[in-house]
Amino acid sequence: MAFRRLLSAAVRRRSSAAAAAAAGNAREASTAVAAGPGAIAPDAPAARAPVMAYDRIADAVNARVRRLEHPDPRFLRYASPVPAHVDHTAILEAPETKVTTLDNGLRVATESSLSSRTATVGVWIDAGSRYETEEAAGVAHFVEHMLFKGTGTRSAGQLEQEIEDMGGHLNAYTSREQTTYYAKVLDKDVPRAMNVLADILQDSKLEDNRIERERGVILREMEEVQGQSEEVIFDHLHATAFQYTSLGRPILGSADNVKSITKKNLIDYIQKHYTASRMVITAAGAVKHEDIVQQAKELFKSLPTDPTTTNMLVAEQPAIFTGSEVCILL
Ligand SMILES: [Zn+2]
Repeated sequence: MAFRRLLSAAVRRRSSAAAAAAAGNAREASTAVAAGPGAIAPDAPAARAPVMAYDRIADAVNARVRRLEHPDPRFLRYASPVPAHVDHTAILEAPETKVTTLDNGLRVATESSLSSRTATVGVWIDAGSRYETEEAAGVAHFVEHMLFKGTGTRSAGQLEQEIEDMGGHLNAYTSREQTTYYAKVLDKDVPRAMNVLADILQDSKLEDNRIERERGVILREMEEVQGQSEEVIFDHLHATAFQYTSLGRPILGSADNVKSITKKNLIDYIQKHYTASRMVITAAGAVKHEDIVQQAKELFKSLPTDPTTTNMLVAEQPAIFTGSEVCILL
C-alpha cells in the first residue's frame, strides 16, 4: 500500500506540474541565496516591484482618492488615509528556502516547518526523456522503474517492507525534463528515508531477470496510457510541436524500444545523467537544514560528478519548435 508508483498518466502529469513548480521555486530560492541579504543595497526594498495585486493598483487608487485637507486624527491614528505600498516579500518568502551546494555539486534545498510532524524528502534530477537518444528512447522511465527493484543491501521486498513499516510513502515519476524520487514520512523516519533514497540512487542492482519482468509492466502501462485521451493528446501535441526531436517523443518511448532496452542502456543513462550537479536533495516539513545537509554529505558520496550541464546537452541537441497540425478523427 505504502509502496506505490504512479501508473496513472494523469497523475503523472499533475505531479510534473507540481515538480516544475517546485523546481522553479528552488531555482528562485537558490538565486535569492546566491545574492544574499547583505548584497541588497539599503534602498533596494523601496525600488522592489509590488508583489501583490492590491499593491499594483495602489497607485491608481491613490490618484483617485482625494486627500482630506483636515482629516480627523482619530481615523489616522493607526492607518494611512490612502492605500500605501507595503513590502510583502518577507511574508511571501516564508518558510525560507535554504540551499547549500556540497563539494560534489549536489544541492540541498529545504523548507522547515518545525510544528509539522511529517516531512517529504526527495531527489529532483534534471534528467528526463528529452536527454535520451532515439535508439534508447524510453530508458529514463525504465530506469525509474528499476530503481525500486532492489539494491546491493535491500531486495525489492525489503525495500517495500521498510517503507511500509514506517507508514511512509515512496513515489517517483519521469517527465520530459525531470525525474523525481521522493518519500513522505514521519519526522523521526527522515534519516531512514534519506538512506533508502541514497541506496536506490547509488546502488541499484538492475538484475537481468528484474529487467525482463519490468518490460511487461511497462508495456502494460503503455497500453493504459494509450487508453487515456488526455495523455494521448499531449503526446500528439509534443510530436507536432517538436517534430523529430527528443521533446517530440512520448516519455514512455516506443514498445519496440521497451522490448529491446538493455542493462547497458540503463547503466549508461544513470552514469551520464544522474550526476551530482544535476540533482537537488529536497526536504520540506519537519526537517532542519543542517541535518539534511549532513545526511546528504554522508549518504550521497558515490554519485557521478561529470560537470556536463543540461544547458550544454540542450545546446548539443536542441529541440527546435517546428509547429504543425494534426487532425485526429474519432
Ligand atoms: Zn511507469
